[in-house]
Amino acid sequence: MLYFFVNKHIKTTKKEKAMQLKSNRTFTMIKPKSVEHGHMGEIIDIIIKDGFKIVAMKMLRLSTADAQKFYNIHSAKPFFDDLVQSMTNGPIIVAVLEKDDAVNNYRRLIGCTNPKEAVEGTIRKKYGISISDNSVHGSDSDENAEVETYFYFSEREIC
Ligand code: ADP
Ligand code: MG
Repeated sequence: MLYFFVNKHIKTTKKEKAMQLKSNRTFTMIKPKSVEHGHMGEIIDIIIKDGFKIVAMKMLRLSTADAQKFYNIHSAKPFFDDLVQSMTNGPIIVAVLEKDDAVNNYRRLIGCTNPKEAVEGTIRKKYGISISDNSVHGSDSDENAEVETYFYFSEREIC
């Protein structure tokens, strides 16, 4: 009986820990216009100063096929072609970030999709040019953070 309770307790704790670890990570892209304008250093500085730990990072240029695949969920939207065009215009920086409640905290730090409506002090408010060139991407759920992370990184690239 005692074994049952102890074992049950351990199982719950492990599950909780796994969920905590999952909600610790998010994925971001610094979009082409921000890289082109040399804002990546300032953006990375804001991310670090906000308490995120960078556990993976690299620079690359998206192919049209990869941009279409990454944003597949938006393929029926009227802005899809413009989005793919702007995301393939130049190099991007992709990164995996760690912090408690990472997805929500990072979405708060970047601000809402349209930079004009974003809260003062947010990354999109500071560096976004328009709704399509809104400076950075941030995952919108733990599940998407995981999918998006492994779209770009292999396990051995994550520190
Ligand atoms: P978010 O990046 O805030 O999660 P969405 O997932 O809705 O926003 O959209 C993905 C990206 O598509 C946005 O970051 C932006 O670059 C672009 N986008 C979204 N809505 C529009 C729009 N109405 N017009 C042009 N581009 C848009
Ligand atoms: Mg989104």
